[in-house]
Amino acid sequence: MDLISLSKLKLLMNKYDIKPNKKMGQNFLIDNNIIQKIIREAGVAGGYVFEIGPGMGSLTIGLAQVAKKVIAVELDKKLIPVLKETVGAYPNVEIINDDALKVDFDGIMKQRGIEEPYNIVANLPYYITTPIIMHLLESGFNIDKLVFMIQKEVAARMVAKPGTKDYGALTLGVQYYTQVFHVAKIPPTVFVPRPEVDSAVVKLIRRPEPLVVVKNEEFLFKVVKAGFGKRRKTLLNSLFNSELNLTKELITEACLLSQIDPQKRMEQLSMEEIAKLADHLVKVDLN
Ligand code: SAH
Repeated sequence: MDLISLSKLKLLMNKYDIKPNKKMGQNFLIDNNIIQKIIREAGVAGGYVFEIGPGMGSLTIGLAQVAKKVIAVELDKKLIPVLKETVGAYPNVEIINDDALKVDFDGIMKQRGIEEPYNIVANLPYYITTPIIMHLLESGFNIDKLVFMIQKEVAARMVAKPGTKDYGALTLGVQYYTQVFHVAKIPPTVFVPRPEVDSAVVKLIRRPEPLVVVKNEEFLFKVVKAGFGKRRKTLLNSLFNSELNLTKELITEACLLSQIDPQKRMEQLSMEEIAKLADHLVKVDLN
């Protein structure tokens, strides 16, 4: 079966009365080179893959042709009959009409007797980029690799280096769990309708162990949130004026033990330094 061309997409939209819904982040891919690139990067040949937001099925068809099984989670009920037409002929594709933010991905695999790790592929609805990625990473699902089309600016934040404006809580959130690669910059012209922003394909490969080992993971991310919540302030002030309830003495002491200048800003620190600081704050805090 052929991949979906622009003319086919228009026919389907007419037939099923589909008007792309901006609120649902519906920007359908029409460029086969990009689709094939995403599928190659996803490395799903012979394996199990989840697709988030299959839309009209452009990417789903390509995945079905190489993967062992594709489970596609689509929120918009109106698209389900379209998907039946475009991917229904592939016995290895299953469509689930649900909100990907609420889906227990491991649970779905287990119900189907699949124990192997799986990959996730999506031309993501941009309005849920950060929550969906954090849901996938924080839940500890049995995921190997994630390949996403996202907004260019969000991709820049994922790969940012310390000391840059893009470096922040998202950078550390994704890098803690995965190794992030910027795969390609994508212009609006490969979508129908065209989004108002540039896009990028990123690849996230799950680390066997988190980037840093800390005493208390939840506390680490509270420290990150506090430090980047007031990112122009010094460490001393941002941590003091946070929900962590730390005294200036405790913060100064933890900085000293971590060999970090309390007058620095969190955006200047590497993940390793922040982890060290968090461990000393936890220790000091518990004393
Ligand atoms: N993969 C298709 C469509 C991408 S557009 C393509 O590349 O052409 C994003 C898709 O995500 C839309 O189909 C939209 O309906 C769907 N979507 C939006 N929010 C969702 C959610 N919370 N869970 C699952 N799918 C969602």
